[in-house]
Amino acid sequence: MPSFTVYKGSKDGSIQKSQTTKGDLKNDEVLIRVTASGLCGTDEHYRTSDMVLGHEGAGVIEAVGPAVRSLKKGDRVGWGYEHDCCGECTYCLSGRETFCPERKMYGYADLDQGSFATHAVWREAFVFKLPEGLTDKEAAPLMCGGATVFNALRMYNIAPTSRVGVMGVGGLGHLAIQFASKMGCDVVVFSGTESKKEEAMKLGASEFVAMKGKKELDIGRKLDVLLVTMSAQPDWSLILPVMAGDSIIFPLSVSGGDFTIPYTPLLLQGIRVQGSIVAPRNIHKQMLQFAALHQIKPVIMEFPLNQEGITKAMTTLNEGNMRYRGVLVPEN
Ligand SMILES: [Zn+2]
Ligand SMILES: [Zn+2]
Repeated sequence: MPSFTVYKGSKDGSIQKSQTTKGDLKNDEVLIRVTASGLCGTDEHYRTSDMVLGHEGAGVIEAVGPAVRSLKKGDRVGWGYEHDCCGECTYCLSGRETFCPERKMYGYADLDQGSFATHAVWREAFVFKLPEGLTDKEAAPLMCGGATVFNALRMYNIAPTSRVGVMGVGGLGHLAIQFASKMGCDVVVFSGTESKKEEAMKLGASEFVAMKGKKELDIGRKLDVLLVTMSAQPDWSLILPVMAGDSIIFPLSVSGGDFTIPYTPLLLQGIRVQGSIVAPRNIHKQMLQFAALHQIKPVIMEFPLNQEGITKAMTTLNEGNMRYRGVLVPEN
Protein backbone atom coordinates (compact mmCIF):
# COMPACT_ATOMS: atom_id res chain seq x y z
CA MET A 1 0.00 0.00 0.00
CA PRO A 2 1.75 3.20 -1.16
CA SER A 3 1.90 5.95 1.44
CA PHE A 4 3.40 9.35 0.64
CA THR A 5 3.75 12.98 1.65
CA VAL A 6 1.35 15.54 0.18
CA TYR A 7 0.90 19.31 0.53
CA LYS A 8 -2.60 20.68 0.95
CA GLY A 9 -4.40 23.97 1.02
CA SER A 10 -6.24 25.05 4.18
CA LYS A 11 -8.88 27.54 5.31
CA ASP A 12 -6.39 30.27 6.17
CA GLY A 13 -4.39 29.70 2.98
CA SER A 14 -1.36 28.20 4.69
CA ILE A 15 0.21 25.12 3.11
CA GLN A 16 -0.20 21.98 5.19
CA LYS A 17 2.00 18.88 5.06
CA SER A 18 0.01 15.65 5.23
CA GLN A 19 0.13 11.95 4.39
CA THR A 20 -1.97 10.00 1.86
CA THR A 21 -2.24 6.22 1.80
CA LYS A 22 -3.63 4.46 -1.27
CA GLY A 23 -4.69 0.83 -1.66
CA ASP A 24 -2.49 -1.67 -3.51
CA LEU A 25 -2.14 -0.75 -7.18
CA LYS A 26 -5.09 -2.16 -9.11
CA ASN A 27 -6.06 -2.34 -12.78
CA ASP A 28 -4.06 0.19 -14.82
CA GLU A 29 -2.84 2.29 -11.88
CA VAL A 30 0.77 3.42 -11.70
CA LEU A 31 2.74 4.81 -8.77
CA ILE A 32 4.73 7.90 -9.76
CA ARG A 33 7.56 9.50 -7.81
CA VAL A 34 7.28 13.26 -8.37
CA THR A 35 10.43 14.87 -9.78
CA ALA A 36 8.95 18.29 -10.70
CA SER A 37 5.68 20.17 -10.42
CA GLY A 38 4.59 23.38 -12.03
CA LEU A 39 2.68 26.00 -10.05
CA CYS A 40 -0.46 27.19 -11.85
CA GLY A 41 -2.85 30.05 -11.10
CA THR A 42 -5.53 27.45 -10.36
CA ASP A 43 -3.48 26.20 -7.40
CA GLU A 44 -3.81 29.67 -5.91
CA HIS A 45 -7.56 29.44 -6.55
CA TYR A 46 -7.76 26.26 -4.41
CA ARG A 47 -5.28 27.37 -1.78
CA THR A 48 -8.04 27.82 0.83
CA SER A 49 -9.55 24.37 0.11
CA ASP A 50 -8.79 21.28 2.13
CA MET A 51 -7.27 19.35 -0.79
CA VAL A 52 -3.88 18.35 -2.12
CA LEU A 53 -2.60 21.00 -4.54
CA GLY A 54 -0.71 20.73 -7.81
CA HIS A 55 -1.71 19.46 -11.26
CA GLU A 56 1.37 19.96 -13.43
CA GLY A 57 3.15 16.77 -12.49
CA ALA A 58 6.27 15.13 -13.85
CA GLY A 59 7.96 12.09 -12.43
CA VAL A 60 9.19 8.56 -12.75
CA ILE A 61 7.13 5.35 -12.62
CA GLU A 62 8.00 3.34 -9.50
CA ALA A 63 5.44 0.53 -9.72
CA VAL A 64 2.66 -0.60 -12.04
CA GLY A 65 -0.72 -2.29 -11.50
CA PRO A 66 -1.68 -5.68 -13.02
CA ALA A 67 -3.39 -4.27 -16.15
CA VAL A 68 -0.77 -1.68 -17.09
CA ARG A 69 0.29 -2.27 -20.68
CA SER A 70 2.58 0.41 -22.07
CA LEU A 71 4.35 1.99 -19.10
CA LYS A 72 7.04 0.35 -17.01
CA LYS A 73 9.14 1.08 -13.97
CA GLY A 74 11.62 3.87 -14.68
CA ASP A 75 9.61 5.58 -17.43
CA ARG A 76 9.47 9.39 -17.29
CA VAL A 77 5.88 10.60 -17.32
CA GLY A 78 3.66 13.59 -16.68
CA TRP A 79 0.04 14.21 -15.81
CA GLY A 80 -2.29 17.16 -15.70
CA TYR A 81 -5.77 18.37 -14.88
CA GLU A 82 -7.92 15.37 -15.81
CA HIS A 83 -7.51 12.00 -14.10
CA ASP A 84 -10.36 9.87 -15.43
CA CYS A 85 -13.51 9.83 -17.57
CA CYS A 86 -16.35 7.39 -18.36
CA GLY A 87 -14.88 6.22 -21.68
CA GLU A 88 -18.33 5.68 -23.20
CA CYS A 89 -20.15 8.98 -23.71
CA THR A 90 -20.21 10.94 -26.95
CA TYR A 91 -17.40 13.22 -25.72
CA CYS A 92 -15.15 10.35 -24.70
CA LEU A 93 -15.81 8.48 -27.92
CA SER A 94 -14.99 11.54 -30.03
CA GLY A 95 -11.74 12.39 -28.28
CA ARG A 96 -13.15 15.24 -26.24
CA GLU A 97 -13.14 13.58 -22.83
CA THR A 98 -12.45 16.91 -21.15
CA PHE A 99 -16.22 17.51 -21.52
CA CYS A 100 -17.27 14.07 -20.22
CA PRO A 101 -20.05 14.47 -17.62
CA GLU A 102 -18.19 11.98 -15.42
CA ARG A 103 -14.77 13.54 -15.90
CA LYS A 104 -12.52 13.56 -12.85
CA MET A 105 -10.66 16.82 -12.65
CA TYR A 106 -8.42 18.74 -10.29
CA GLY A 107 -10.42 20.56 -7.66
CA TYR A 108 -13.43 18.25 -8.03
CA ALA A 109 -12.14 14.69 -7.67
CA ASP A 110 -9.17 12.80 -6.21
CA LEU A 111 -8.62 15.55 -3.65
CA ASP A 112 -6.29 13.31 -1.64
CA GLN A 113 -3.45 13.61 -4.12
CA GLY A 114 -1.78 16.03 -6.52
CA SER A 115 1.62 17.03 -7.81
CA PHE A 116 2.66 18.94 -4.66
CA ALA A 117 3.68 15.62 -3.18
CA THR A 118 6.40 13.01 -3.13
CA HIS A 119 4.25 10.52 -5.07
CA ALA A 120 0.88 10.00 -6.71
CA VAL A 121 -1.17 7.10 -8.07
CA TRP A 122 -2.98 7.59 -11.37
CA ARG A 123 -4.50 5.53 -14.16
CA GLU A 124 -2.01 4.75 -16.92
CA ALA A 125 -4.64 5.97 -19.39
CA PHE A 126 -4.26 9.53 -18.05
CA VAL A 127 -0.48 9.61 -17.76
CA PHE A 128 1.74 10.82 -20.61
CA LYS A 129 5.17 9.52 -21.47
CA LEU A 130 7.58 12.45 -21.64
CA PRO A 131 9.48 12.88 -24.90
CA GLU A 132 13.27 12.95 -25.07
CA GLY A 133 14.42 16.52 -25.44
CA LEU A 134 12.30 17.85 -22.60
CA THR A 135 13.53 17.55 -19.01
CA ASP A 136 11.07 16.84 -16.20
CA LYS A 137 11.28 20.48 -15.08
CA GLU A 138 10.57 21.70 -18.59
CA ALA A 139 7.73 19.25 -19.15
CA ALA A 140 5.84 19.89 -15.89
CA PRO A 141 4.46 23.35 -16.84
CA LEU A 142 3.29 21.94 -20.17
CA MET A 143 0.88 19.57 -18.38
CA CYS A 144 -1.65 22.34 -17.68
CA GLY A 145 -0.29 25.68 -18.91
CA GLY A 146 1.07 24.31 -22.18
CA ALA A 147 -1.92 22.02 -22.73
CA THR A 148 -4.36 24.88 -22.16
CA VAL A 149 -2.90 27.26 -24.73
CA PHE A 150 -2.09 24.55 -27.26
CA ASN A 151 -5.64 23.19 -27.00
CA ALA A 152 -7.23 26.52 -27.86
CA LEU A 153 -5.12 26.73 -31.02
CA ARG A 154 -5.43 23.05 -31.98
CA MET A 155 -8.98 22.01 -31.03
CA TYR A 156 -10.44 25.05 -32.76
CA ASN A 157 -8.23 24.68 -35.85
CA ILE A 158 -6.52 28.04 -35.80
CA ALA A 159 -4.81 28.56 -39.16
CA PRO A 160 -1.10 29.38 -39.57
CA THR A 161 -2.19 32.45 -41.53
CA SER A 162 -3.99 33.87 -38.49
CA ARG A 163 -2.93 36.97 -36.63
CA VAL A 164 -3.00 35.81 -33.00
CA GLY A 165 -3.08 38.15 -30.02
CA VAL A 166 -1.71 36.95 -26.69
CA MET A 167 -2.79 39.11 -23.80
CA GLY A 168 -0.62 38.74 -20.71
CA VAL A 169 2.95 37.47 -20.55
CA GLY A 170 2.88 35.02 -17.64
CA GLY A 171 2.75 31.26 -17.15
CA LEU A 172 0.23 30.67 -19.93
CA GLY A 173 1.06 33.68 -22.09
CA HIS A 174 4.78 32.99 -22.50
CA LEU A 175 3.94 29.47 -23.70
CA ALA A 176 1.14 30.72 -25.97
CA ILE A 177 3.57 33.06 -27.75
CA GLN A 178 5.90 30.14 -28.47
CA PHE A 179 3.22 27.67 -29.60
CA ALA A 180 1.41 30.16 -31.85
CA SER A 181 4.61 31.44 -33.41
CA LYS A 182 5.95 27.92 -34.07
CA MET A 183 2.59 27.08 -35.67
CA GLY A 184 3.36 29.84 -38.12
CA CYS A 185 1.02 32.51 -36.79
CA ASP A 186 1.76 36.22 -36.65
CA VAL A 187 1.79 36.87 -32.88
CA VAL A 188 0.92 40.21 -31.28
CA VAL A 189 1.57 40.43 -27.55
CA PHE A 190 -0.35 42.74 -25.22
CA SER A 191 1.06 43.54 -21.81
CA GLY A 192 0.69 46.31 -19.22
CA THR A 193 4.06 47.97 -19.67
CA GLU A 194 7.15 47.60 -21.88
CA SER A 195 8.96 45.54 -19.22
CA LYS A 196 8.41 42.16 -20.88
CA LYS A 197 8.90 43.33 -24.46
CA GLU A 198 12.36 41.93 -25.06
CA GLU A 199 11.41 38.52 -23.65
CA ALA A 200 8.17 38.40 -25.68
CA MET A 201 9.99 39.21 -28.94
CA LYS A 202 12.61 36.56 -28.14
CA LEU A 203 9.84 33.99 -27.58
CA GLY A 204 8.45 34.65 -31.05
CA ALA A 205 6.21 37.73 -30.98
CA SER A 206 6.27 39.94 -34.05
CA GLU A 207 4.69 42.93 -32.33
CA PHE A 208 4.41 44.10 -28.72
CA VAL A 209 1.78 46.50 -27.39
CA ALA A 210 2.04 48.14 -23.95
CA MET A 211 -1.57 48.83 -22.92
CA LYS A 212 -1.13 51.07 -19.89
CA GLY A 213 -2.74 54.48 -20.35
CA LYS A 214 -3.88 53.70 -23.91
CA LYS A 215 -7.31 55.03 -24.88
CA GLU A 216 -7.23 53.22 -28.18
CA LEU A 217 -5.07 50.59 -29.81
CA ASP A 218 -3.50 50.77 -33.23
CA ILE A 219 -2.05 47.46 -34.36
CA GLY A 220 -2.55 47.60 -38.12
CA ARG A 221 -4.03 44.32 -39.33
CA LYS A 222 -6.69 43.15 -36.90
CA LEU A 223 -6.64 39.97 -34.82
CA ASP A 224 -8.23 36.73 -35.98
CA VAL A 225 -7.68 35.16 -32.60
CA LEU A 226 -7.12 36.47 -29.08
CA LEU A 227 -5.88 34.35 -26.18
CA VAL A 228 -6.55 36.11 -22.89
CA THR A 229 -4.12 34.68 -20.35
CA MET A 230 -3.88 37.30 -17.63
CA SER A 231 -5.66 36.83 -14.32
CA ALA A 232 -7.98 39.85 -14.54
CA GLN A 233 -10.37 40.51 -17.41
CA PRO A 234 -9.23 43.21 -19.82
CA ASP A 235 -11.07 46.37 -20.80
CA TRP A 236 -13.11 44.87 -23.63
CA SER A 237 -14.12 48.23 -25.09
CA LEU A 238 -10.42 48.77 -25.85
CA ILE A 239 -9.97 45.28 -27.32
CA LEU A 240 -13.02 44.80 -29.53
CA PRO A 241 -12.06 47.46 -32.10
CA VAL A 242 -8.89 45.48 -32.94
CA MET A 243 -10.73 42.19 -33.43
CA ALA A 244 -11.29 41.19 -37.08
CA GLY A 245 -14.68 40.11 -38.38
CA ASP A 246 -15.49 36.47 -37.57
CA SER A 247 -12.66 36.33 -35.04
CA ILE A 248 -12.39 34.29 -31.83
CA ILE A 249 -11.68 35.34 -28.26
CA PHE A 250 -10.49 32.64 -25.86
CA PRO A 251 -10.76 33.67 -22.20
CA LEU A 252 -8.27 31.17 -20.76
CA SER A 253 -7.43 32.29 -17.27
CA VAL A 254 -9.49 31.52 -14.19
CA SER A 255 -11.38 34.58 -13.11
CA GLY A 256 -14.21 34.94 -10.64
CA GLY A 257 -17.42 36.83 -11.38
CA ASP A 258 -19.34 37.29 -14.61
CA PHE A 259 -18.13 37.86 -18.11
CA THR A 260 -19.40 41.16 -19.49
CA ILE A 261 -18.56 42.46 -22.92
CA PRO A 262 -19.94 45.24 -25.16
CA TYR A 263 -22.82 43.61 -27.01
CA THR A 264 -23.21 45.47 -30.31
CA PRO A 265 -19.61 45.20 -31.59
CA LEU A 266 -19.65 41.48 -30.74
CA LEU A 267 -22.78 41.05 -32.83
CA LEU A 268 -21.84 43.27 -35.77
CA GLN A 269 -18.36 41.78 -36.17
CA GLY A 270 -19.50 38.19 -35.68
CA ILE A 271 -16.95 37.76 -32.90
CA ARG A 272 -17.06 34.44 -31.04
CA VAL A 273 -16.19 34.05 -27.38
CA GLN A 274 -14.98 30.47 -27.07
CA GLY A 275 -14.67 28.71 -23.71
CA SER A 276 -11.77 26.28 -23.61
CA ILE A 277 -9.97 24.22 -20.99
CA VAL A 278 -7.04 21.82 -20.89
CA ALA A 279 -6.44 19.42 -23.75
CA PRO A 280 -8.01 16.01 -24.16
CA ARG A 281 -5.39 13.27 -24.26
CA ASN A 282 -5.00 13.09 -28.03
CA ILE A 283 -4.27 16.82 -28.26
CA HIS A 284 -2.14 16.67 -25.10
CA LYS A 285 0.09 14.07 -26.80
CA GLN A 286 0.32 16.21 -29.93
CA MET A 287 1.30 19.14 -27.71
CA LEU A 288 4.19 17.19 -26.15
CA GLN A 289 5.45 16.04 -29.55
CA PHE A 290 5.18 19.54 -30.98
CA ALA A 291 6.96 21.07 -28.00
CA ALA A 292 9.78 18.54 -28.18
CA LEU A 293 10.19 18.97 -31.97
CA HIS A 294 10.26 22.78 -31.82
CA GLN A 295 11.99 22.95 -28.45
CA ILE A 296 9.20 24.96 -26.88
CA LYS A 297 10.18 25.26 -23.24
CA PRO A 298 8.84 27.20 -20.31
CA VAL A 299 11.03 29.86 -18.74
CA ILE A 300 11.12 28.69 -15.14
CA MET A 301 11.99 29.72 -11.61
CA GLU A 302 12.80 26.83 -9.28
CA PHE A 303 11.62 26.37 -5.69
CA PRO A 304 12.05 23.44 -3.31
CA LEU A 305 9.05 21.09 -3.17
CA ASN A 306 8.28 21.52 0.53
CA GLN A 307 6.00 23.70 2.69
CA GLU A 308 8.36 26.64 2.64
CA GLY A 309 9.14 26.37 -1.07
CA ILE A 310 5.49 26.12 -2.08
CA THR A 311 4.60 29.13 0.07
CA LYS A 312 7.45 31.13 -1.41
CA ALA A 313 6.53 30.19 -4.96
CA MET A 314 2.91 31.19 -4.37
CA THR A 315 3.97 34.52 -2.90
CA THR A 316 6.20 35.16 -5.91
CA LEU A 317 3.29 34.39 -8.24
CA ASN A 318 0.86 36.58 -6.25
CA GLU A 319 3.21 39.51 -6.24
CA GLY A 320 3.55 39.32 -10.02
CA ASN A 321 7.23 38.43 -9.88
CA MET A 322 7.20 34.96 -11.42
CA ARG A 323 9.29 34.76 -14.62
CA TYR A 324 7.37 32.96 -16.01
CA ARG A 325 6.41 29.61 -14.45
CA GLY A 326 7.30 28.40 -10.97
CA VAL A 327 8.53 24.81 -10.80
CA LEU A 328 8.81 22.90 -7.52
CA VAL A 329 11.61 20.36 -7.33
CA PRO A 330 12.18 17.79 -4.55
CA GLU A 331 15.37 18.41 -2.61
CA ASN A 332 17.10 15.03 -2.52
ZN1 LIG B 1 -3.46 24.75 -14.24
ZN1 LIG C 1 -17.43 10.21 -20.97
